[in-house]
Amino acid sequence: MLRLYDTATREVRELAMREPGTVSMYLCGPTVYGPPHLGHGRATLVYDVLRRYLEWTGIRVRLVSNITDIDDKIIERANREARPWQDITHRCEDVWFEAMGRLGVARPTDVPHATEYVEQMVAMIGQLVEIGRAYPTDDGVYLSVETVEDYGLLANQSLDDLLAGGGEREVYGAEQKRHPADFALWKLSKPGEPSWPSPWGDGRPGWHSECVVMSLDLLGEGFDLHCGGMDLKFPHHENERAQAVALGKRFANHWMHNGFVVDAEGEKMSKSLGNVANLLDLTEHYDPRAYRMLLLQSHYRGPVAVGQDNIDASVKALAGLDAFAARTAGVAGAEPDGDVLARFRDRMDDDLDTPAAMALLFDTVRRANAALDAGGAEAASLVAAVHEMCTAVGLELKAGGDVPAEAAAKAAALDAARAAKDYAAADALRAELQADGWTVETTKAGTTLRR
Ligand SMILES: [Zn+2]
Repeated sequence: MLRLYDTATREVRELAMREPGTVSMYLCGPTVYGPPHLGHGRATLVYDVLRRYLEWTGIRVRLVSNITDIDDKIIERANREARPWQDITHRCEDVWFEAMGRLGVARPTDVPHATEYVEQMVAMIGQLVEIGRAYPTDDGVYLSVETVEDYGLLANQSLDDLLAGGGEREVYGAEQKRHPADFALWKLSKPGEPSWPSPWGDGRPGWHSECVVMSLDLLGEGFDLHCGGMDLKFPHHENERAQAVALGKRFANHWMHNGFVVDAEGEKMSKSLGNVANLLDLTEHYDPRAYRMLLLQSHYRGPVAVGQDNIDASVKALAGLDAFAARTAGVAGAEPDGDVLARFRDRMDDDLDTPAAMALLFDTVRRANAALDAGGAEAASLVAAVHEMCTAVGLELKAGGDVPAEAAAKAAALDAARAAKDYAAADALRAELQADGWTVETTKAGTTLRR
């Protein structure tokens, strides 16, 4: 049974299923106003691995991940570029799914758009006002956090401590708020801004109100798992949860947060630091599977430094796996080694310990290669276990398609040699392939062969 760290209880505990055999999960999706960065890629890949692993074990997963298509940042960009805001959101959403496709991230079961839910958001905010948990001001409607008894649960801080910390309080509407930590559920629009009607005046929903309405609508009360990056824990997730609690509704049963992507100096990589590496760039310059491999070799809760060294190492590791797939292309039909798969599941079930699972994968590749060299009978079941583990974490191996195994193995060895910067070996392999009649095309994404 899968055990995951839960941010709310601060312990690793079993992921309970409201409906046996099905996991309902919500992942905060992108605000579509710019290109996706490496942090977005990490969050989607971590939960894609979780989803695929659960499905591999026979569990059905309903994953809801929204598109925030109305937000201050979208309006700012539309004004700056004098374009309709829908131009920006439509274009950015296309780019988002293009990047996700390249990374091999499966499309969520549902992709609700915030703009489709404004009426429901207005209704929810109205209920909160009616029961005295929210109040209107000159510029919008605010949730009164003092009326939410365990506000600060996810941040693991009391309201007083949160205020003493200072930095994270919402500054919007500061003048009229009853409490500095109160946050906007509804923001009245200025002339020319996109707006929807409401009892408090034309305006738009606050970001925190979007996810709570969409998750409860599509997944229902007490859904199993709410996910997102560590940076969303507070205030975004805290504030989503506060609204559900204020309404007396059961919200997510388990909270999962992935760590930051940092640069070589350990600084968080974010738009505000201006050292963003664009996700599309990454997948254009390197094998798009490399980022998944890099993240699999890091624990999801810790920070990940993305740099040349570990991207190169990931490309090399993939080349080794592809060479193995090419070598074993003719080995099929065996039952996967049960002992290996049991150990794989133990590691994955232990708070998604993918680094240990990957160590087992590479160890199994070594054992299978040794067994193949020795002509041992156990090779086929080890080969099958390798393929099962790759499927479980969403790693697609390239055995070379309709290229014969021997040539594919040489192409993979060529990539490995390049990744290791052994250009003499790479040139020798290229010459061998060309002598065999292949046209060899090598890009940063890897080598392809054509007759
Ligand atoms: Zn959210």
